[in-house]
Amino acid sequence: MRKIIVAIDGHSSTGKSTFAKAIAAKLGYVYVDTGAMYRSVTLYALQQQFIKEQGGISEKDIVAHLPAINITFRYNKGTGASDTYLNGENVEQEIRGFNVSQYVSLVSAIPEVRERMVRLQQEMGVHKGIVMDGRDIGTVVFPQAELKIFMTADPQVRAERRYKEMKEKGSEVPFEEILENVKHRDYEDEHRAVAPLRRAPGALLLDNSHLTPEQQMEWFLKQLALIRTQ
Ligand code: C5P
Repeated sequence: MRKIIVAIDGHSSTGKSTFAKAIAAKLGYVYVDTGAMYRSVTLYALQQQFIKEQGGISEKDIVAHLPAINITFRYNKGTGASDTYLNGENVEQEIRGFNVSQYVSLVSAIPEVRERMVRLQQEMGVHKGIVMDGRDIGTVVFPQAELKIFMTADPQVRAERRYKEMKEKGSEVPFEEILENVKHRDYEDEHRAVAPLRRAPGALLLDNSHLTPEQQMEWFLKQLALIRTQ
């Protein structure tokens, strides 16, 4: 069967990566988590102290160090998923931390950071057979993707999901703070000057506030069958 590109965009904490991973597993495609790439750049900037808790963010330093930031994905036999590596070090856990989440919108708004990430992502998709999720996949990275999906869900539902996830990992961040972070990231992502989060022309809307993973997969397979017959 002809391989395609599946481009998934949407708001944070809508379960994009869980959905994208399930699709990739179902179709035998490669999954690329572009959020992990922006998170890795943010982690690097924090480690190098280009971001200071009080003193703001040094875009100049981040841009100057972009060539020194090497991001790769490697399959993890134990989890059956791929882990993110920053300059050879497994950062899969660290990039999901609250500190990185707090600053990632700022780092991903830097045009030079986006240019570099987009180029890397386009290279990953040259042979198709890829499921990529992020904020600008259908609008910028692969506007020609055969199947584009825009995911959203009620902010309250998304914050509850994230709260549960973080609590299971032992985090004590209060729910209100998480809800604020969800809303803040939506705002930042939708209002930034470069590649703001938008539903791409032709993207199918999926609101999963009240859908189970199984119902989402059912929906996806229906859409896939539709484009296969076109
Ligand atoms: O998907 P995830 O929530 O891990 O993404 C983290 C952040 O990275 C987002 O809030 C957004 O600011 C940024 N991002 C982006 N473009 C992408 C993927 C993520 O700007 N394609």
